[in-house]
Order: sequence, then structure tokens, then C-alpha cells
Amino acid sequence: MLDNIRVVLVNTSHPGNIGAVARAMKTMGLSDLRLVAPDEYPHPYATSRSAGAEDILDQAMVVSSLQKAVGDCQLVVGTSARERKIPWPLINPRECAELAGQACEASKQVAIVFGREDRGLTNDELALCNYHVNIPACEGYSSLNLGAAVQVVTYELRMYQLAQDKPVNNQLASHESAFPDASHEEVERFLAHFEELLTQIEFLDPTNPGMVMTRFRRLFQRAMLDSREVNMLRGVLSDTQRIIKQLSKTKS
Ligand code: SAH
Repeated sequence: MLDNIRVVLVNTSHPGNIGAVARAMKTMGLSDLRLVAPDEYPHPYATSRSAGAEDILDQAMVVSSLQKAVGDCQLVVGTSARERKIPWPLINPRECAELAGQACEASKQVAIVFGREDRGLTNDELALCNYHVNIPACEGYSSLNLGAAVQVVTYELRMYQLAQDKPVNNQLASHESAFPDASHEEVERFLAHFEELLTQIEFLDPTNPGMVMTRFRRLFQRAMLDSREVNMLRGVLSDTQRIIKQLSKTKS
């Protein structure tokens, strides 16, 4: 999926940043880098900062304009550290990953465009994009280093991809359990048993139950218990009742 996502750097001035971007991309599984008129490239600083991601640099294509870098793309997303005067559909990196991921799944080519270290992308360049992405950094100090910005955006792409590969991991509800989810009836029987014990130990006053059982019900519903967990809980309740009975016998 990430093969269809291209990172585009516009007029980068420090070659070291290009290396840092290559490294960030490689760690997240991206490889398509396009450089629009970099100030100094190739450069030993780029190679050293890439720290083993030279293959990304070797494959990187240098072009003379942003149009040339994104001409074949169906989705172009521009990144910006600050809000611009022109209102544009503004999304965060997570939303960007979803959008880009879905575009890739539909076999579209995607470009994510990053600007100059000193002044970002121009309004004209941003106007070439379908969406703008902003990393919601702290107000008043919101500009990340170029390599760091690429890392954040590509990390979200990777998370999206991993979630697609393993949807189960992404759902709290579908915890990895070897046992089947408890049925509605099993949970209801457990809750009735729990209520019985709470009444027995006078935690619950049946004449004035308040919201106690509703809150416990919400807690256990949220837990998405499996049948073994319900059995364990029922076991605890039964054992507690047995001990209470024994204690009351020894008292009397
Ligand atoms: N001073 C520039 C910031 C340039 S930082 C400005 O005000 O626009 C270099 C590039 O890193 C930006 O063009 C953008 O591509 C990316 N970047 C840095 N911080 C970002 C943020 N908070 N959100 C989105 N992109 C960011």
C-alpha cells in the first residue's frame, strides 16, 4: 500500500535534512522520494544523515518544479506548520493517513508535499494540493524540523497500514482470546449473581439501589468478557458466598 505514496520535498536548503527524511521514510516503509530543486544535492551530509537509507536517496528523483513532482498523482496533500489565509480542507496526520491509505487501496498515486525549512510552502504551492495537513503542535512554537515532520506523517501512514493488515489488533472489543465471547445470557446471569452477592454483603441496599448496578453493568459490558472470564467471575462469587455461609454458621 505504501508503495503508492510519494514524499515530495520542495527547495530543501540543508542536504542533511534530505538524509533525515530518507531515514524517516525507510523506518516507516516508504521509498518514493522526489526532490524539487534542492539547494545542494547530492551531498555527503545527505548521505551521512540518511544513516543506512542511501537506497532511498539513490532512487530519489530530482525535478525542477512541484507540478512535475506531482503530475501523475490523484491525491496531493500539502503540509503546513501554520494556518494560511486561504481556507482549505485542513486535516491532521491521522486523517491524512486514512485518506492516503484509502486512495492507495483504490490504486491511486498519492503525494505528500513538504516545504522549505525557512518558510514552508508558498500559497501557490499549497493551492496545488487537495488537502492541507497540519501537525497539531503547540501554539506559538508549532514548526517541526523537516525530518521530524516527515516522521510524524509517515508514522501515521504506517499505523494505518498495520491496522489494515491486522484489524483485530485495532479493536479493543476483539481481544485475542482463545475462548468465545460470553453470550448476552451468560453476562446477564453473572450480573444477577453479582447483584445477589452485593446485596448479601450489604454493599447494595435493595430498597435504595441507586445507580450502582447500572455502573457495574456498564463496566462489565465494556470489558467484552469471554466465556472463561465469566466463569472465573462466577467462581469468585460462589466461593465468596460459600465462605460467608461458613462464617455465619460458625458465628451462630
Ligand atoms: N517556517 C516555516 C516552517 C517550515 S518547517 C513555516 O512557517 O511554514 C519545514 C516543513 O516541515 C514545512 O514546510 C512542513 O512541510 C513541515 N512542517 C513543520 N512543522 C509542521 C507542522 N506543525 N505541521 C505540518 N507540517 C509541518
